[in-house]
Amino acid sequence: MSENQEKTCKCGYTREHPWVVPKHKYSTWGMIVVSIGISYAPKLMTIECDKCGEVFETIDDKETLLKNKYI
Ligand SMILES: [Zn+2]
Repeated sequence: MSENQEKTCKCGYTREHPWVVPKHKYSTWGMIVVSIGISYAPKLMTIECDKCGEVFETIDDKETLLKNKYI
């Protein structure tokens, strides 16, 4: 299998498909903070299919997470 081969989930979607969305994973504290409207960087971000839940990519790089924090 080549590294460049486009990964698909169980539904056959690639990560460009609208069903495949980035999800922010927050710690309990992060959830509380975000729910009251304060910007907070997620603990982890995943690119996953919203339909079957298959994870395409897990991002735990702090720099990227800060750029993607909930506003
Ligand atoms: Zn899927």
